[in-house]
Amino acid sequence: MVIVFKPNASKEQIGHVSDYLHAKGFDIHINEGKELTIFGIVGDTKLLTPETFLEMDGVSNAFRVQESYKLCSRTFHPRNTKVRVGDVTIGGSEIAVIAGPCSIENEEMLFHISSGIVKSGANLIRGGAFKPRSSPYAFQGLGEEGLKYLRKIGDRTGRPVVSEVMAISDIPLFEKYVDLIQIGARNMQNFALLKELAHVKKALLLKRGISATIDEWLNSAEYLASKGNQRIILCERGIRTFEQSTRFTLDLSSVPVIKKKSHLPIIVDPSHPMGQRELVIPMARAAVAAGADGIMVEVHNCPEKALSDGPQSLTIKQFSDLMKEIEIIAGAIGKTIAKN
Ligand code: PEP
Ligand code: MN
Repeated sequence: MVIVFKPNASKEQIGHVSDYLHAKGFDIHINEGKELTIFGIVGDTKLLTPETFLEMDGVSNAFRVQESYKLCSRTFHPRNTKVRVGDVTIGGSEIAVIAGPCSIENEEMLFHISSGIVKSGANLIRGGAFKPRSSPYAFQGLGEEGLKYLRKIGDRTGRPVVSEVMAISDIPLFEKYVDLIQIGARNMQNFALLKELAHVKKALLLKRGISATIDEWLNSAEYLASKGNQRIILCERGIRTFEQSTRFTLDLSSVPVIKKKSHLPIIVDPSHPMGQRELVIPMARAAVAAGADGIMVEVHNCPEKALSDGPQSLTIKQFSDLMKEIEIIAGAIGKTIAKN
C-alpha cells in the first residue's frame, strides 16, 4: 500500500497516519521528497483499505502496489536510488565504469591491468576469486588469496573493488576484503544466499539470472531489500535464448524497463553475453546510450593467455579507447562518466 500526502500536509497529519499504522503493527518506509511525503507499507496490507486513508486529513492518494515486489518498485519509491560504493555514486547523473579481469590469476597481472584501467578512468576494479565455471576442470579461482590481492590493489589505487560470492560460508571473507559484493547470474535465485547477504553491511551487485524474467529478478532484489539491505545495484548480463551467435542474448531493453518498474540503479555487463571482444565494444556503447547507470567490462593484459573468458576480454588499449567513446555518448544524453 502506498499513501501519498498532499504537498501542504502538516507534520501532525502525517504523524496521525503514522501512529494509526504503527498501532496496527505495520512497518512504514518513508520517502520524503522536497514537495511530497510518501509512505510505503509492507506486510499483510489486505487488512487495510485505501478508502480509510483517503478520508484522513492531509492524504491525497492511497492505493495498493500490484507487483509482488514492493520495496524495489518505483510505485513504492518514485525517486531514483543512488548507491554509494567508496567514493563512487551509482544511480545518479554519472555513469560508473567497473573493469578488470574475469579471474584474478596472480598479483602481477591484477596490478598490471588495474594500473592501466584506472589510468583510463575505471571507477571500480573487478576480479573473480571464486569462479562459477561450467566445467569442474576449468580454473576455479584463487579463493581468499585472490581477494587479498584485490584488496591490496584497491587500497593502492584508491578504487573500490568488486568480486563474486558463491557460498554462504565465504561471506565473512567478502565482508573483510571487498567493497561491492557480486551475486552472479547462477545464484540470482539462490534464496538462502540472498537472505544471508541481506544482513551484510556492503552494497550488492545483483546480476540477472540466465533464464530470469525481469520480474523474477526484481523479486530476488526484494529478498535483499525486505530482509535489510537496500544498497542494491542490478546488472543485466544477457539471457539464454535460441540465438547461438553470441554466448547469451544481451537484453538491453531491460534497462528502460527496469527504470520504469524500479528505482534501483542498473548497470550492464556486455562481456559475458557477447563472448567476443569485438562484439563487446558496440554493446558497451549501446548500454550507455540505453540509459544504464554503469557498465562492467572484462579487461586482460594478455587475453590470449587468460585462464577464463579471454576471448571476450578487452585489451587495456581497447578499454582506454572505449572510455573516450562512452564519454561522448554519455554527453549526448546529459550524463557524464564518473571521475575519480
Ligand atoms: C562474472 O562476472 O565473472 C560472471 C561469472 O558473470 P555471470 O554471473 O553474469 O555469468
Ligand atoms: Mn568472466
